[in-house]
Amino acid sequence: MTAAQTRILELRAELDEHNYRYHVLDEPSIPDAEYDRLFHELKALEAAHPDLVTSDSPTQRVGSTALSAFTQVRHEMPMLSLGNAFEEADMREFDRRVVEGLDLPAGDLFGAGAEVQYSCEPKLDGLAVSLLYQDGVLVRGATRGDGTTGEDISVNVRTVRNIPLKLKGSGWPATLEVRGEVYMSKAGFERLNATQLEAGGKTFANPRNAAAGSLRQLDSKITASRPLEFCCYGLGQVSAEFADTHIGNLQQLKAWGLPISHELKLANGIAQCLDYYRDIGARRDALPYEIDGVVFKVNSLAAQRELGFRAREPRWAIAHKFPALEELTELLDVEFQVGRTGAVTPVARLKPVKVAGVTVANATLHNMDEVARLGLMIGDTVIIRRAGDVIPQVVQVVTERRPADARPVQIPECCPVCGSHVERTQLVKRSKGRETFSEGAVYRCVGRLACGAQLKQAIIHFVSRRAMDIEGLGEKSVEQLVDEGLVRSPADLYILRFEQIVGLEGFAELSSNNLLAAIADSKRPGLARFIYALGIPDVGEETAKVLARSLASLERVQQALPQVLTYLPDVGLEVAHEIHSFFEDAHNRAVIEQLLERGLQIQEQGELAAEFAASATLDGVIDKLNIPSVGPGGAKKLADKFGTLQGVIDADWLDMRQALPEKQAKAVRAFFDEPHHVALALSIEAQLKAFGMHWESEKKQVEGLPLAGQTWVLTGSLELMSRDVAKVKLESLGAKVAGSVSAKTHCVVAGPGAGSKLAKANELGLKVLDEAAFVAFLGQHNIAV
Ligand code: NAD
Repeated sequence: MTAAQTRILELRAELDEHNYRYHVLDEPSIPDAEYDRLFHELKALEAAHPDLVTSDSPTQRVGSTALSAFTQVRHEMPMLSLGNAFEEADMREFDRRVVEGLDLPAGDLFGAGAEVQYSCEPKLDGLAVSLLYQDGVLVRGATRGDGTTGEDISVNVRTVRNIPLKLKGSGWPATLEVRGEVYMSKAGFERLNATQLEAGGKTFANPRNAAAGSLRQLDSKITASRPLEFCCYGLGQVSAEFADTHIGNLQQLKAWGLPISHELKLANGIAQCLDYYRDIGARRDALPYEIDGVVFKVNSLAAQRELGFRAREPRWAIAHKFPALEELTELLDVEFQVGRTGAVTPVARLKPVKVAGVTVANATLHNMDEVARLGLMIGDTVIIRRAGDVIPQVVQVVTERRPADARPVQIPECCPVCGSHVERTQLVKRSKGRETFSEGAVYRCVGRLACGAQLKQAIIHFVSRRAMDIEGLGEKSVEQLVDEGLVRSPADLYILRFEQIVGLEGFAELSSNNLLAAIADSKRPGLARFIYALGIPDVGEETAKVLARSLASLERVQQALPQVLTYLPDVGLEVAHEIHSFFEDAHNRAVIEQLLERGLQIQEQGELAAEFAASATLDGVIDKLNIPSVGPGGAKKLADKFGTLQGVIDADWLDMRQALPEKQAKAVRAFFDEPHHVALALSIEAQLKAFGMHWESEKKQVEGLPLAGQTWVLTGSLELMSRDVAKVKLESLGAKVAGSVSAKTHCVVAGPGAGSKLAKANELGLKVLDEAAFVAFLGQHNIAV
């Protein structure tokens, strides 16, 4: 076999496979541009070796076999394809063939000669459909199939809103077969993909696939729900002719109620065709539907008859194509960008490729769900789409071209800008009065205060009137301070010097002094104002006020566990989670620490709000654990039966059975068999107590214990036990363990490294124990270490 023969066979096999995927499955795996290149390679080879052309070659055939799931329909008049022109020269060549075929006088050197009249229409990118009207009534709809045999999709075409079921007016031939394109508008396509995505369904790569996939549905209800439209561009079989020209035909069809293109025009000669092509090309992005070219047809029907057909296309029509919107390239890498709100977005770095006339080297990947949906791996060959002004997108992976060394795309654990933790956003689901988390699509850097990408926005918010209220610092000035490297975190505002500001745009001597004075004036914010200024996601002024009023100290706000925060009015799990992750982040904590070191004195109440202190109950704690199948009622029964959290944790399911139905009792037992659930439960309890919240049953128990009524504070590090353990031991003696020292503190246990709390205790003349004295004290109460 010669090299040409081998290549021809290879190309035919490949094209057959792509035809099947495109026309039958509506799931092409390569872009049209790539298909067209392979098709043209085959055409060129066959032109050079005419003896190798066979009737089953894709160059001789239309579409692909009809899907057997539908009833088959035979087209009385074949539904053909169209020849393609990509360059102006191809168009001139087409015109020359038409002129020659019609035996018209050819043009001379100056281009003068016969001018053929052409009809001009946009080439809609959808799928070809034949509609059969008998006595003005729609009786059948069919796909093109292989041109001779199509699929009966009558039920489906009836759901397309602008296809008349009955023709208007009168005078139509008894048999009238209308041909046109079923397509989806750009807006309809966007809407459909958005709803599909929301419902977790399949999304479509482009409007054509969406239209084809929607129309060739076995369930016509699905078709009916899709935004399909029809546009008529020609005739099939008719029992009587009614016009002399193609445009005449279309205008008559329009009068009978069939939609035709608003862009239909008549061109006198090739030059006007080229003008039309350029005009539509310039307006391509603004059109409400997608087109892949324009179609020119010899307008006179007599001339069309004279010219006739070739194997797969008429000689009297041609599709002049526009640059493709989709191209193939390679995914070199995926990088992560951090936005102004901290959203960490994957961006595809591509081997540069020209798409619709523009070189594309990057494409957005939206989020990690999208990466997963595409099944994308680094090294993959991908289809890039660039429609209109839309940012280029990766619409599909060509999985069969995946190299062996392709790597998965992984979200970084740390922010590429500031190194803070990158966290997946949590969405809260509410059901039966209970909130649980599900995973959101977006990942975010939690380093709000420390992240360079978020810095400008963080500072603009920090200094705003309702936050720290630093007058004289508008957006422009903040941008300058950040760009000049003078401010790298909100804490840097408090070390700004006159000579650093005075040269900046908009800052003269007086305004610089005013700014410094405003910064100094902002140094004693109320706790609510300060919390709001931090710009924690979802924490507005109201939530900041609730946090400040209820918890009354920055330290408690910083420490609070999400479940404890949900005790606050109007704080749901989602916000609680945001607050907790914000303060968990070491970078954010370091900035707050620095703010305090640089002289910020936060005005706080100190004492826990009484209504908050009283809001804790044992059943509330159990309920907040979200034990599967146990609701607030079950939690209450457990609390009443066992009296303490430890009692519930230790109970056998048979004991619980006395309070709950068997299924729930077993669920509670299984829940607490997980050590991390026990740890979580105990830490919630420990924190509520540390904050000074006790519930009734415990209050009773505490009375009569040796340290009842005393408040102790632990500070510094202990060597023989952790502070948590020390706290439990103190509490078992009835003491309340608090986080801050006040005149009401009974005793302070200070380990090495104790700082401001020890100093305050000494200042107030409180009793202070070091670790050895504390261990001895415990020993006196028979508590071993
Ligand atoms: P075509 O789409 O290039 O042209 C013929 C079709 O154009 C008609 O059947 C009709 O549906 C449509 N059309 C739109 N407006 C029209 C108008 N005003 N007048 C007449 N017809 C109009 O040819 P084709 O044979 O349908 O298919 C070839 C196309 O499909 C190429 O663009 C090719 O890239 C693509 N294809 C792609 C793949 C793939 O794997 N990506 C596989 C097969 C085919």
